[in-house]
Parts: sequence; C-alpha cells; structure tokens
Amino acid sequence: MIRHRDIEQLQELSQAPGKTLTLYLDVDQTNAANRRRQFETHLKDLLRQLRAANPDDEELAAVIPEVEEIVKRVEPTGRTLVLARHRGLGVTFRKVLRIPLPSGAYWGVGAFLRPLVEALDEHERFGIVIVDQKRARLATVFLGEVEEHRDLISAVPPRPDAPTSDKLRSQPRMERRHDESVSNHVRMVASEMARILDQLEVDRLIIAGSVEVASELARQLPKRLRGKLVELLPLPVTASTEEILARTAEVQARLERAEELQVVRDLLKEVRKGGRAVAGLSATLDAVNQGRVWKLVYLHGLKLEGGSCADCQVLVPPADQRCPLCGKAVAREEHLVDRMSRAVLERGGHVEMVDGPAAEALRQVAEVAAILRS
Ligand SMILES: [Zn+2]
Repeated sequence: MIRHRDIEQLQELSQAPGKTLTLYLDVDQTNAANRRRQFETHLKDLLRQLRAANPDDEELAAVIPEVEEIVKRVEPTGRTLVLARHRGLGVTFRKVLRIPLPSGAYWGVGAFLRPLVEALDEHERFGIVIVDQKRARLATVFLGEVEEHRDLISAVPPRPDAPTSDKLRSQPRMERRHDESVSNHVRMVASEMARILDQLEVDRLIIAGSVEVASELARQLPKRLRGKLVELLPLPVTASTEEILARTAEVQARLERAEELQVVRDLLKEVRKGGRAVAGLSATLDAVNQGRVWKLVYLHGLKLEGGSCADCQVLVPPADQRCPLCGKAVAREEHLVDRMSRAVLERGGHVEMVDGPAAEALRQVAEVAAILRS
C-alpha cells in the first residue's frame, strides 16, 4: 500500500543533483489496447515525445533505455504503473496502482508526483468492520488495496440448540447468557474499533457481517463514527480479502460516481451560461494552451489524435496543420489526451476521468471539457 511517507521519501531523494524521469502508464488489462504488453508501445510514444521536447539532453537519452528495460519486467497487476527513475542515484521507484491515472512521462529536477499525491489526497480511506456473534475483523481499503488490521475473536458461549427434555428448564437462562455475551462482544468491538479507526484516519465506514449483529454494532458506534457510516453489508465474517475488496469497491464506486456526476453537472451549467467552463476539443485545447484550465474533465478511456508544435508546445485539433503561434507545420500527436493532461498537471491543474452516469451526461455535450481557473 502506498502512503504519503513513501512519496515524501521519493520527493527528497529525487531532489539530488540530476533529473528524474517520472512515468505514469495505463497498463489496465481490461482495456484490449493494453493486452499482449502493447502498453510498451504506448510507453515508446511517451518517451519519444519527451525526447523530442528535450533533443539535446544526454542524460535523458541515457535514462530512456533504462526505463524501457524496467517496464519490460513489470507485471500489469493493476491499472496504472507509476515509475520514477533517477539515474545518478541509481534509484527506481516502481508501483502498479489499482486506480486509473492519466498517462504521461515527465523529465525534470525532482520526480513529478502531483498526480500521485492528488490521488492520495482525494481517494477516501474506507474502514470495513465485519462482525458476527463471535468474531470481528477490521480492514481498510485505500487506492484499491486492502489491508487487514485486527482480528478480534471473543469467546461467546454457544446458543443451545434442540435441547433434550431434561435441559429444557435451564435453556432460558443459557439463552440470556448468550445474548448478554453477544451484546458485550458488540460493545467491546465498538469501542476497540473506534480506537483503531481514529488512528487510521478513516474517511468512510462500512459495517458488514450477519445483519443482526451488524445493525447492533451500528447502533453502538460512537457519534463521531456514525457520521462516517455509509453502508451496512451482509457479508460472512469469513469473507476472503478479495471479497472484502470487491464489496468495498462497489460502495466506493457508487459514491464516486455520484460525486463525478455533480462535477459534470456543475461544469455543464457553467458552459450553458457561458461561465467558467468550456466544452469540446477545440475550446478545451485553447484553454489548455493558455494555461487557464483548473480541471480537465474527459471520458475515461478517451483517445484522440491531434497535433503539437515542438517549438511552442502548443496542442492543436486534428484538422489543424500549422501552429497558430509560429505558423510551422505541427507534428502528429497520437495521444492528444495524455498531452492535454500533462500540460494541465504541469501547470498545477487537476484532471478528472469520468465513467458511468457522469460520462453519459458529459457525452451529451462533448467528450472533453474543462473548468477554468477563476
Ligand atoms: Zn509553434
């Protein structure tokens, strides 16, 4: 699991003399275009772009083959490969994240970690507690990875079943003892969980397990945690890690879809009234070229071609043959969306890729749009 302190270390390291090549690469195997290691072709394009923008940089020329070699050994176990290579130090940071980030290659002093830092800041940390009458497990899910923290097991006397006649008289007492013990268990779980969850800085909480005990636990939660509770899920306490991750991801996706939809609705409202947003490739490119984009918004997986001027770094729509600034012929740009993302991120802006209902709403108007700086 990636944490802020990993990034701080990386940031510190990469401040050493010499430059760092930072790479974000879409390796998602659910996308057919990335299968059979075709992401390596995308990598070559990104590195060629970088080389073209820094033609005389010998250090870059030396680090590019190193990065290509490293990527050849990467297993695409997630959606985005994040890689930073500082040649002088001989240091490589490499991690395949389970979240999508815009692809791009960056060359400069210090690793370009803004997309990563932003993902750490924006993604919510989910706590999930799974309880039954005897056990409780606690896991957190962050950036698509699950981490198990605590497995509490408390002994509960078994509920008596099918008693023989001579045991009949003692049954109510045993049942009461069982119920008391379950409610003690739930109380213990509630206070222990609260203590741990405070330390873990969980943003949202899911309570799962047998319905009865889960609802009881929800009732006994301290107030400060009750506000974070988003869902009660029926799930066996023996659920596998994969199952926990999958169920949490469903809840998370639903919440994120709702937030994305709000972003797109606000954006389209601004576009309609001619306010601080633009939609459509050509208007968005203008805003990107002028450095006016606060947040670039596009359909997840969108691929557009266009052109770029190697001298002015200006990006143009596919129909334009010449740079609007210097008049020179533009070079064909196969991954225009990556270039737009990179330009926005490098100037301190944000990028949001939308799916689901937000994508449907955006698609009514355009495939790509931007909220402008105020
Ligand atoms: Zn130009």
